[in-house]
Amino acid sequence: MSIQKTLSIIKPDAVRKNIIGQILSKFESNGLKVAAMKMKHLTQAEAEGFYAEHKERGFFGDLVRFMISGPVVVLVLAGNDAILKNRELMGATDPKKAEPGTIRREFAESIDENAVHGSDSSQSAEREIAFFFNAAELVN
Ligand code: GDP
Repeated sequence: MSIQKTLSIIKPDAVRKNIIGQILSKFESNGLKVAAMKMKHLTQAEAEGFYAEHKERGFFGDLVRFMISGPVVVLVLAGNDAILKNRELMGATDPKKAEPGTIRREFAESIDENAVHGSDSSQSAEREIAFFFNAAELVN
């Protein structure tokens, strides 16, 4: 096990449902620490840049529209194996296929509005953290 940092986003659907705290609680009660956090309303350019790897996918336009439909919370989570741990806590991309107890199973209804984002590798974690935070904004 190694200490890692990963980027999480509490997406607009979850912010609208007023469940920011319940999602943070899942992270904290499972050994992840918040190392940085901010609330922001993404611009179209930010959402397109963040999800650039998906720009050829049929759902890209819908994804960008959804991600700019309201404010999000962007956070850096730190802990042992934080990247995989966060992905496990999130559950499968499609909430209907997510394991019971996962964030997406408990708090999301559809694949296009699925409550949370989480980096899927150490390379994406590094890129995604730098996309939203500078070094001085990380507490450790
Ligand atoms: P993740 O890493 O589990 O978030 O999944 P992906 O990287 O494959 O996809 C990124 C995001 O695109 C997902 O979290 C969904 O919000 C969205 N997405 C994926 N598949 C679909 C789809 O078929 N339709 C729509 N509208 N959005 C999708």
